[in-house]
Amino acid sequence: MTVSILSPELLRKLPSPHGVAIAILQASQNESTGINDLADLIANDPALSGRLLQLANAAALGHRVVSIKQAVARLGMNAVKNLALCFSIVDQHSGGRCVPFPYKIFWSESLVMGHLMFELVTATNLGVADELFTCAMLARIGRLGLATAFPEEYAAVLTTPLSDAQLLTQEEVSLGIHHLDLSAAMLRQWGLPEPLLEAVLQHELPQGDQSISLPGAAPIAHALRVAYCVARLACNPTSTSSTTADLMNCQELLDFAEAYAISPSALESLLHNALTQSMAWSGILQLNVVDFSMLMHRSAPGATPDPGQNASSSTQLRILIAEDDPIVRTLLETWLKVEVGHSLLSAANGAEALELANSFLPQIIITDWRMPVMNGLDLCRELRHREWGQNVYVLMLTAADGDDDLVQAFDAGVDDYLTKPINRKALGARLKAAWRHVQMRETWVRDNQRLVRTGAELALSNRRFQLASMTDALTGIPNRRAGQSVLAQAISSAHRYRVPLCVISIDVDHFKTINDSFGHVAGDEALQLIGQTLQLAARKEDTVCRWGGEEFFIIAPNISLSDGAIAAERLRKFVENQTITLENANVSITISLGVACLDLESKNKDQLLIEADQALYAAKHGGRNRVGISELGEVRLF
Ligand code: GH3
Ligand code: MG
Ligand code: MG
Ligand code: MG
Repeated sequence: MTVSILSPELLRKLPSPHGVAIAILQASQNESTGINDLADLIANDPALSGRLLQLANAAALGHRVVSIKQAVARLGMNAVKNLALCFSIVDQHSGGRCVPFPYKIFWSESLVMGHLMFELVTATNLGVADELFTCAMLARIGRLGLATAFPEEYAAVLTTPLSDAQLLTQEEVSLGIHHLDLSAAMLRQWGLPEPLLEAVLQHELPQGDQSISLPGAAPIAHALRVAYCVARLACNPTSTSSTTADLMNCQELLDFAEAYAISPSALESLLHNALTQSMAWSGILQLNVVDFSMLMHRSAPGATPDPGQNASSSTQLRILIAEDDPIVRTLLETWLKVEVGHSLLSAANGAEALELANSFLPQIIITDWRMPVMNGLDLCRELRHREWGQNVYVLMLTAADGDDDLVQAFDAGVDDYLTKPINRKALGARLKAAWRHVQMRETWVRDNQRLVRTGAELALSNRRFQLASMTDALTGIPNRRAGQSVLAQAISSAHRYRVPLCVISIDVDHFKTINDSFGHVAGDEALQLIGQTLQLAARKEDTVCRWGGEEFFIIAPNISLSDGAIAAERLRKFVENQTITLENANVSITISLGVACLDLESKNKDQLLIEADQALYAAKHGGRNRVGISELGEVRLF
């Protein structure tokens, strides 16, 4: 795993803790810092002091704490450090300049991830809960970082809807770094330990696809993945997850529970705690978050669902009534809303109902047939013309049940009917059928979403695999396969646009003696440094790759042979003038280079490579640390 190093320029633009929070982070890295020192620091920040007291008292079972020192003692120094960090970032960035960035959803997800992680870790003893709370709460901070450092550029990235994998690619292309790398780099700056950074880097991948190298990081990455999936479901405004019971269907959560033997009831209460805490924290932090209250209705485990008798969170339905008779309307409201507990709105005619349905998105509409302005049949036809209205279950109330009337009703798109006067038992039975229909449809939507997600995850892991297969493991620069592919493209582009193309073949001089004198490990280190040096010295449009062993290769588009030779000479000098330190000794390394240029009329790729090698051979023969040039079949030294 590598965590990006941030440039000082980028660092200045990124969200960072302020004032007292910085002092606390620094003090907590000093082992001699005690509770009194920390309390003194915190006392300088009244808002932080107030929040810590509030949290300490919320967590308290015993007497009220009234001093900062008591609060620090109760919460623990580590927790206080983490809290100060979170508060400081949240305060400065609850909103921002990147217009399409979903600040509200971002912070809602962050809170749910943090608190769910805390609960999962507490239930399984996976690690230090406070630390993992911060890690999860800030795991996606790189997204905020991009929105803060590049508000306009990131806005352009966010204008088209993208899958997780596409977003990473697009961020990297447009901004030079993607949010996962940035999150890990920022968290490293703030002192989070390496295994947590590795978990952060991997948490968008399904557990099976995560590749973890650091000891202890795998279970944390697994839990973080779960927290991410649940938070996304809980905070996504278009998600169909509307109750805790729905969140409980999250496959990642179920798999985690199975792996750690967490019972369904423990799991439900764990979810409930995480959501309750998220709500409480949004108050303490004065953050605008999505409304979790719908999610927090608990279902009664084991109860047989009966939406006609008693609506638990899993059987509660959104019902819209369209009925012009106020007596029937009141009766239905009393039965279904007051007595049973469904969520219910009512309208006096079809037009009013249509208007309400637009925002209420009912799962069921119970409509009278004959009404002024717009009757039940027209309401049903209008509904079926709208995309969201296709799936609403329509129950028609009718005085008539003649065959012709019924045919007309079903033609208009009604799902079921009930004759007036309404019998309460019959209504209950009809609602059961409606509820089953709604359940089936929502399960279908969820499965579909899961499929889409799996597809996106697969694309992401493919992309990582592809990236890995094109990168040289030792030096981190493109490998020979990548170089071959770039070369083929460069040749075809040179032919198409009639522009020159140079290649430079490079071999390190007397590399065997480096291995012999300092050992193979130091030799590897030298190769890494040479790779980096060449990349640094080459032009931006050049591709530097490791061709194999101690050989490198550069594809330099758009330059003539003479300019290519000058570039090669510059590289030679650059490497010659670098001193590298191996085993405490300063070592000078030199390279020999061979330059060849594509002949647009006749030369193919193989011929080009042969000529570059012949030029390199001439450079070696000419005493090494030289540049050889192949021109018109002749080889000469620079
Ligand atoms: P010359 O100037 O003629 O190129 O001399 P040289 O010693 O560089 O050439 P030679 O081809 O004889 O040796 C290349 C050496 O590079 C031998 C091999 O052990 C070493 N080498 C190749 N790949 C690696 C590697 O990945 N790591 C290390 N440490 N050494 C490598
Ligand atoms: Mg009527
Ligand atoms: Mg060699
Ligand atoms: Mg060599």
